[in-house]
Amino acid sequence: MSHISTQRQVISALGGHECVQPREYDLVFVGAGASTSYVLLALLDALVEQRPAIPLALCVVERAPDPFTGVPYGDRSARTSLLITALRDFLPDRERASFVEWLSANKEWVFDEFLSAAGPFSDRWWSRHEAEIRRDEFDSLFLPRYTFGEYLTRRIRDAVARAEAAGVATIEVVQDDVASIDPDMTNSAALDAIDALAPGDDVRCR
Ligand SMILES: Cc1cc2nc3c(=O)[nH]c(=O)nc-3n(C[C@H](O)[C@H](O)[C@H](O)COP(=O)(O)OP(=O)(O)OC[C@H]3O[C@@H](n4cnc5c(N)ncnc54)[C@H](O)[C@@H]3O)c2cc1C
Repeated sequence: MSHISTQRQVISALGGHECVQPREYDLVFVGAGASTSYVLLALLDALVEQRPAIPLALCVVERAPDPFTGVPYGDRSARTSLLITALRDFLPDRERASFVEWLSANKEWVFDEFLSAAGPFSDRWWSRHEAEIRRDEFDSLFLPRYTFGEYLTRRIRDAVARAEAAGVATIEVVQDDVASIDPDMTNSAALDAIDALAPGDDVRCR
């Protein structure tokens, strides 16, 4: 497993840089879309089942303010944007069953933002499908994409809480943009991050 530390810097009052406590991570994810979310869920489950000798220090660096939804399923997509396929073709069986169970339990509020943003087309979608939603028949629907983002974010939050409560991992989520990865260091790589860490900061991977 990669061993990663961040060299955090702050800009001093005199305009130069000074180092603050370096951070150590075992694993850093760059970007938090659906791909990172599912890898993280699998990893956290595995850690809870097979406890490591010491807790794993994980970091997620995501440039957007809504981590774990990625581009299609969060705030960067309109609330009225629909999945490009029916739900039955969107997720594998086990994962779809879990999402459907969640939709059934949360359908009273999860469509509110879709309805608030709805224009004539979305109104028509709702009147065509409201009865199916009431009956928990989601498989043939092209659902509003953000509903999946809501589900994913909550699943991650629960998995992180479980892993931290079990003492098997700590997870830090940093809002930042990884500007470059430098693979030229001996046994390591450096990810240059801008904005939130500080100008010139990097995340070192050994
Ligand atoms: C508008 C849109 C709609 C889509 N709709 C569907 C659909 O309905 N059904 C379907 O199956 N697929 C759809 N897709 C395909 C979609 O890309 C995949 O389903 C899936 O979401 C991809 O997830 P990802 O995590 O690989 O990528 P992304 O969702 O792109 O996530 C990558 C994340 O990494 C972050 N990131 C990238 N570079 C950096 C960096 N340097 N520093 C920090 N953060 C960084 C980004 O901000 C982003 O949040 C759609 C794609 C788009 C763009």
